Amino acid sequence: MKPEKTFLILLILVIASSMIYGQRIFRPIDPNNGGARYGKSPYSGPPFLYFGSNSYNYKIADSLYNYHLSYVDAAFTSWNNAGQVQFSRTSSGLTLTAQAQDYNSWGPAWSYPSWNGSTYELTPVSGSIVLNSSGNVTWSHTEQHLNATPHVLDVQSMVVHEAGHIHGLAHPLTDSYTHDATAPTMAGGDNAYFDNTLDVRSLETEDVYGTQFLQLRVPNLYSSLNNAVSIANAIGVGYVYVDGSCTLTGNISIPSGVTLTLLPGANVNFNGYYIEPTGGTFNIQNGSTVYLTNGDNKYYGLFTSIQSAINYASSGQTVQLQARTYNESASFSNKSNLILQGQGKRRHCIKQSNLSYQLKLYLH
Ligand SMILES: [Zn+2]
Repeated sequence: MKPEKTFLILLILVIASSMIYGQRIFRPIDPNNGGARYGKSPYSGPPFLYFGSNSYNYKIADSLYNYHLSYVDAAFTSWNNAGQVQFSRTSSGLTLTAQAQDYNSWGPAWSYPSWNGSTYELTPVSGSIVLNSSGNVTWSHTEQHLNATPHVLDVQSMVVHEAGHIHGLAHPLTDSYTHDATAPTMAGGDNAYFDNTLDVRSLETEDVYGTQFLQLRVPNLYSSLNNAVSIANAIGVGYVYVDGSCTLTGNISIPSGVTLTLLPGANVNFNGYYIEPTGGTFNIQNGSTVYLTNGDNKYYGLFTSIQSAINYASSGQTVQLQARTYNESASFSNKSNLILQGQGKRRHCIKQSNLSYQLKLYLH
């Protein structure tokens, strides 16, 4: 093999691996191990963290930070601009305080995101961010020098990082950003670039993807399911949850890497549109067992009864029954050219309770 060929092949491999890795370095915090420096991978199964609301408050509990007020606000605004969750400063809410601690054991700043263990929801309304006011730290809003004595730390840079933990993000699992201007803000002091710049005040792409990953819940945080699915696809790993009522505003494809879950109680008004898994997963947990299709992979409606599907169906469509016993009567009057399709012989049993005798119809 000629040397040029070897080089070309290696180059392609490097580019391919960095593209995959580059989209997946953010990590949500593991609520079952809050002290862990690094979070649980979104690939390793539940628990997945997400917000229960899109509106939270924070307050500055220590007058020491009044001087830096606009910079604290700017730090939260960065996260507000990155997604649907909105923080606003009021007299209540999660606290931002100063504490004099031993710098060496506590670090210059830290945060305590709280969470609801039964629903896996973050509840940052009761979280707190602490900025260390010991003699080893001088707080600034014009410069940042970790190597100086005492340390000079930029309030906005620190708060934007700690607010990221409040958002449920851990430090990313990578050491590839040791001196990298494009490293995520959540890399914090692990990135040597952090030392002498105010550039880390602003979020990087991975920070934005990280918080959007945690927020992929409809309709609480995204009114449009279409928008949520497209964001899930863009960030490379997507678990979109629907836990209320939402209306489709266009056809939805669920691409590879995205799982769309209808949680118990979720209701989707298809509004004439369809949902089609095109490599991704459609996880229907809302109790629907009757699906309306065109005989293909597109879902035009989900129902809990055969009759409601028939009523909604158009000519030529297929009413697909999932395997279970259907204890209902159904009328096809005023409908034509509909297909009633089951999952196979002896997997269905339709009981018509309005008859004096019970008719069992096996579909296959
Ligand atoms: Zn941190």
